[in-house]
Amino acid sequence: MTLAPKASGRFERFDAPDKPKGNGNGWYRIHSPQAASFGIWHLDVSEVVTLNDVSNSEAVAQSRLEAIRERDRRDRKRQQCEAQAAEKARRWWSEAAPGDPAHPWLARKRLPPHALRQHGKVLLVPLYVEGGLVNLERIFPDGNKRTLAGGRVRGVASLIGRLTGAGRVLVAEGWSTAAALHEVMGCPVVVARNADNLALVARRLRQRLPDADITICGDDDRHLPAKGKPNKGSVEARHAALAIGADLLMPSFCEGCRHCTDFADVRLCRLGGGHGG
Ligand SMILES: [Zn+2]
Repeated sequence: MTLAPKASGRFERFDAPDKPKGNGNGWYRIHSPQAASFGIWHLDVSEVVTLNDVSNSEAVAQSRLEAIRERDRRDRKRQQCEAQAAEKARRWWSEAAPGDPAHPWLARKRLPPHALRQHGKVLLVPLYVEGGLVNLERIFPDGNKRTLAGGRVRGVASLIGRLTGAGRVLVAEGWSTAAALHEVMGCPVVVARNADNLALVARRLRQRLPDADITICGDDDRHLPAKGKPNKGSVEARHAALAIGADLLMPSFCEGCRHCTDFADVRLCRLGGGHGG
């Protein structure tokens, strides 16, 4: 990335290097020849840099203040968007029909809808934080999944089964993996949606159920190391299990199968029905 900084004294945007071109997720402001502040929104980073010796402490202090203000502005905006999405989620949820057991995606996965609801052809997975509905994951007939735009995703979770009185609780990434585990194991399964969310959701669950026997059931992203990427599912599942003193369960694959990565895949493979999607 090359950047030709403009000493305009105003907020300027630049592209964060880890996001697609044109993202504008970075910002900077050059306050004086001595000090500038910059940040990257999606990483929640903001810093003040001094360009020379700190000969102008007022400018440095001003820069820090600006960085804090910019972060506050961003936080408020995000909270507004999240509140709007939560309202939409509650409205859609209350108006939706029960999930249709014949929905093509459920049929391919050979899973019942449990508590899912349906809006037209789209399945809705309710996503909660602290018992409040904050977002919906929409599952389209082709298997594509999308949450509501601007809605909260960090720390959100869904549940298959009931936590009350449960001696053993499982935590998994995706809804279909959780549902497949529920079919086989019979115990409640918490859906954390993705690997990045596992540890956060596991910690909340541990707070709520200090004595429960919790098992983190990871995805095995075994195809990623060959592409030079870490096996995120495995790494984050281990991390979550260690963080809360939970057991770890990883799928064991059928011989010769190179497709399966999670428990839902493995269940389908064993049922002999292909891999869903
Ligand atoms: Zn398989």
